[in-house]
Amino acid sequence: MTRKLFLLPGDGIGPEAMNEVRKLIAFMNDKQNAGFETDEGLVGGSAYDAHGESISDADMDKAMAADAVLFGAVGGPKWDDVPYEARPEAGLLRLRKDMELFANLRPAICYPALANSSSLKPEVVEGLDILIVRELTGGVYFGEPKEIIDLGNGQKRGIDTQVYDTYEIERISGVAFEMARTRQNKVCSMEKRNVMKSGVLWNEVVTATHGANYSDVELSHMLADAGGMQLVRWPKQFDVIVCDNLFGDMLSDIAAMLTGSLGMLPSASLGAPDPKTGSRKALYEPVHGSAPDIAGQGIANPIAMISSFAMCLRYSFNMVDEANMVEKAIANVLETGKRTGDIMSDGCTQISTSEMGDAISEEYASLLG
Ligand code: NAD
Repeated sequence: MTRKLFLLPGDGIGPEAMNEVRKLIAFMNDKQNAGFETDEGLVGGSAYDAHGESISDADMDKAMAADAVLFGAVGGPKWDDVPYEARPEAGLLRLRKDMELFANLRPAICYPALANSSSLKPEVVEGLDILIVRELTGGVYFGEPKEIIDLGNGQKRGIDTQVYDTYEIERISGVAFEMARTRQNKVCSMEKRNVMKSGVLWNEVVTATHGANYSDVELSHMLADAGGMQLVRWPKQFDVIVCDNLFGDMLSDIAAMLTGSLGMLPSASLGAPDPKTGSRKALYEPVHGSAPDIAGQGIANPIAMISSFAMCLRYSFNMVDEANMVEKAIANVLETGKRTGDIMSDGCTQISTSEMGDAISEEYASLLG
């Protein structure tokens, strides 16, 4: 069996982190006959330097043809002044748009060994495992009109439009319910139906989707502002949270910080299932950016990238045992006190990016037995 992976390491620490995933891919091909076939392209500033655009059509075609895309990070001060259409982030936005990646999955998992690194009390976050499902291609970031109008009296008016159609809410809530079935079977939908018409529709459609196809899943609703409070008060009450693009952007960042460092956080973005094969287009990336302040020093934390690969194993290839083992390997390495600089604490041993990658690969190998 061939599994086609397209790697887009990008800029800054992206390539450093991606190197540590390559170690696992090579091991799985060698020892587990995983059949990963990898190809690699350029995105972001590195693509701009090579082609004058943030991703080439040829690389876009490869991304579209792959079973899954692994993405590092893009951006950096070197490209601050490139034309707007060619800015590094444009490559990521094009990937999301052309692959129609409407569902963004952001897990917030607190490894027991890192419970003390959170800004919240350890008992509030230890063992935390929640999943935020954010709508990614609609809502206020894309709705029209979107403009700044000159009112002619020395005043201007900025306009963004929050807009959702039924099908967009149905498909994102469907993803949330399906994810919940593989976890604790609970979904909390968050919107602002008290002040927003799109929130009223959101609530109605999530409820109807639940009633039609997912009544085995426990559904609750919460106003998004209250949801923000509950996330920092007692986050373990949640399993899966589903929300629109804007609230998802904010709530997933809040959830992220419950767990310690940006260097730990993976994400997945999924498209609709192919009607013939049932497989979804998918892109996996760490939540962090290119971290220009530490790029090239070999000190970046590769765990967010490695756990993004674990999500890829789980969601694109149904390699659930392997995904669990990668996550267990990460937890075990952290238990031994090995840390990159960003998650370093007293009594632990600071190691480099590649030492962390090696440690996780070796632990994976020993878990495999
Ligand atoms: P950032 O996530 O790159 O870095 C924020 C801070 O966290 C920095 O101090 C960095 O050193 C640290 N950090 C991030 N990831 C780390 C890791 N794996 N290990 C250790 N420390 C880590 O965010 P930023 O500084 O706001 O942005 C830097 C560049 O990245 C900008 O050009 C921005 O546009 C871009 N960016 C890209 C993405 C993406 O590619 N998806 C996301 C966010 C930001």
